[in-house]
Amino acid sequence: MNEKKLIIVIGGGAAGFFSAINAAINFPQAKIIILEKSNKILAKVRVSGGGRCNVTHHCFENNELIKNYPRGEKELRQVFSQFSVQDTIDWFLKRGVKLKVEQDGRMFPESNTSETIINCFLQEAQKYNIDINLNEEVLSIDKAEDGALKVKTSKQTYTTDAVICSIGGHNQEKNYAFLKQCGHTIDELIPSLFTLNLPQSHIKELMGLSVKNGTVKVIGTKYQYTGPVLITHWGLSGPAVLKLSAFAAYDFFKLNYQAGISVNWTGTLNEEVLKEELSLQLGSKALIVNTPLFEKSKRLWEYLVLGLDIPLSKPWIELGKTIE
Ligand SMILES: Cc1cc2nc3c(=O)[nH]c(=O)nc-3n(C[C@H](O)[C@H](O)[C@H](O)COP(=O)(O)OP(=O)(O)OC[C@H]3O[C@@H](n4cnc5c(N)ncnc54)[C@H](O)[C@@H]3O)c2cc1C
Repeated sequence: MNEKKLIIVIGGGAAGFFSAINAAINFPQAKIIILEKSNKILAKVRVSGGGRCNVTHHCFENNELIKNYPRGEKELRQVFSQFSVQDTIDWFLKRGVKLKVEQDGRMFPESNTSETIINCFLQEAQKYNIDINLNEEVLSIDKAEDGALKVKTSKQTYTTDAVICSIGGHNQEKNYAFLKQCGHTIDELIPSLFTLNLPQSHIKELMGLSVKNGTVKVIGTKYQYTGPVLITHWGLSGPAVLKLSAFAAYDFFKLNYQAGISVNWTGTLNEEVLKEELSLQLGSKALIVNTPLFEKSKRLWEYLVLGLDIPLSKPWIELGKTIE
């Protein structure tokens, strides 16, 4: 790229800043401008990871890493082979931001605040003379006869050589209209990473209770996830549920969000093991409700016992000889 070239970056989020900075490094002759429609930059970075910014994940096997992304696996394989987790760690370290790893593999800035990431991006943007234009929305991109791109915004029209589009995720198609007009295909917009609303279930009576390891399954699909489950006043939440909603997003959509949900509160213990464990109690005179098994809390155990229509006054010995 020779002198006076212009690169327009649409969107002042994490992706926009990262792209703009790397464009400046790789094309030192070019002028880079970030166009941001709102009056804020890096707004999501600020709140990300509970204000700590979960920058990357401690996984150096790309084949493993891509399994955590419900869609776009093929595209991401290519992306990670060009810029890996190690590259991300090194990129920030080179700019004075050391990342630390937590037990579950998530990586955060050592400072434990997303401000560190924001400051890093802002300093780099300043270092490379990147313009940041707030309150300027891109409305359309057209190709002129000479091949140049005309980027029309709410304020002016730019003639540019390259456009990097990093406008983030949106739930309304109108946000992607200008990309559709350029000939891009936009996948159907459907929700992901949601909690489960269970209006007919009594489980909500246990709101606030969490289980370290539960397996949540969408009945009639292949999707199930194991991990922490939280009972809320509307249904179920927690990492296992969020992951389930991300991977089963299309199935939930196709089912019009009317799906049966089953939960194995023991996590991954199968029916055989469960029956065996329960059978061991059968001779006991202790009340069933007072003998929580599988390390379950008394509250959850009582809920499960009552759910099976077993009276609170019933001892194990009266349960019968077999566990069905
Ligand atoms: C509460 C919360 C916590 C999160 N935590 C994490 C986390 O810890 N780690 C993680 O990796 N991810 C996290 N995420 C996801 C996070 O949003 C993304 O990883 C990341 O911030 C997305 O960056 P982005 O630049 O792609 O999009 P965005 O941050 O959405 O930026 C896109 C920008 O483009 C602008 N824009 C859109 N259309 C136009 C237009 N036509 N013209 C001009 N500007 C336009 C928007 O105003 C916006 O500022 C979290 C998200 C939320 C909501």
